[in-house]
Amino acid sequence: MPKLSERVETFTDSVIRRMTRISNAYGAINLSQGFPDFDPPQALLDALAKTACDGPHQYSITFGAQNFREALSRKVSKTFGRTVDPDTQLCVTCGSTEAMMAAMMTICNPGDKVMVFSPFYENYGADAILSGAEPIYIPLVPPTYDFDLDRIEAGFREGAKAIIICNPSNPCGKVFTREELTAIGALALRYDAFVITDEVYEHIVFAPHVHTAMASLPGMFDHTITCNSLSKTYSVTGWRLGYICGSARVIEGARKVHDFLTVGAAAPLQEAAVAGLELPESYYAELQKLYTQKRDFFCEGLDRIGLQHNIPQGTYFVMLDIRQFLDLPRFRGLSDLEFCEWMIKNIGVAAVPGSSFFREPVNHLIRLHFARQQSTLEEALRRLEKMAEYLK
Ligand code: GLN
Repeated sequence: MPKLSERVETFTDSVIRRMTRISNAYGAINLSQGFPDFDPPQALLDALAKTACDGPHQYSITFGAQNFREALSRKVSKTFGRTVDPDTQLCVTCGSTEAMMAAMMTICNPGDKVMVFSPFYENYGADAILSGAEPIYIPLVPPTYDFDLDRIEAGFREGAKAIIICNPSNPCGKVFTREELTAIGALALRYDAFVITDEVYEHIVFAPHVHTAMASLPGMFDHTITCNSLSKTYSVTGWRLGYICGSARVIEGARKVHDFLTVGAAAPLQEAAVAGLELPESYYAELQKLYTQKRDFFCEGLDRIGLQHNIPQGTYFVMLDIRQFLDLPRFRGLSDLEFCEWMIKNIGVAAVPGSSFFREPVNHLIRLHFARQQSTLEEALRRLEKMAEYLK
């Protein structure tokens, strides 16, 4: 057999998505791959039904249907506090997964260095390999997930072309403060580098924390490449609608990459999703309230069981600290992946092993998500109660 490329030999399939497959095989409650088990807003469903009859059903413009980009630009302009031009500063992609990949391919030559926080959303590792970039990892140190700005400056001094910021952060739930973003942004400007952001959880932020868009900070728009999607905000992860927003020069490059990667995102779904982008501000306030209730309910449940965890400032993920189990003779020597497999088979709840997010050899954290209906969360907590028996 001829050999495959070295590129594909250097990374594995996604552990997050693999856990979903294992979870399905054992009929566990899937709290691994983050996606809601409840419906999108009715306005989107109605628009989808109408689109089925009225179309469009053929390609949209490769970089996004005009009405979809215009609706996006109205929403993003509000967030950024400046006018975002739908004709030159937006490119619609197949989810933010493609947005991030296209952004990396737009700015990186093979060998270029890009800073990535650790823990990081696992796609960024593969994105770096596929675009030829060399990651420099900047630790976000648990349990507070703070970082050392000097290490970021050292990375820029080494010539890093960009830094990737997932804000709010998957998997650790950190919401970067305005001060932190301002400090990182100032370094990016000083060293003439880019900031690539992943802001898909921008509307899942818990008070008193607030989301600040890097591109909204003074002087940062031209140096920021914002990747975002409709998946989490409108509970439509399967629609695969994302976008890149940036300067006209960056977007011109990104549109070329995107055109040859995928041609375009699904035209009927772009048409239907306009209804989501036009929802009133109250929709986002309600979404935040809903997820705040879910976070509080789930975290209080974990506390009652005696499981140790962080309190996320944003996103719908919780990191469980499993050291109290790994210290027991029964579990000693297990990897976090093996522990997650044990949980799926014996507890009936699926999580993602933390090692798939960390550069450092971390084996004691696993990620659960709470984007689930109340009844699913109740059943998940009932099942997790069984874990307390091992601690007696
Ligand atoms: N962002 C979600 C997660 O981290 C799902 C990502 C995906 O599988 N595309 O679980």
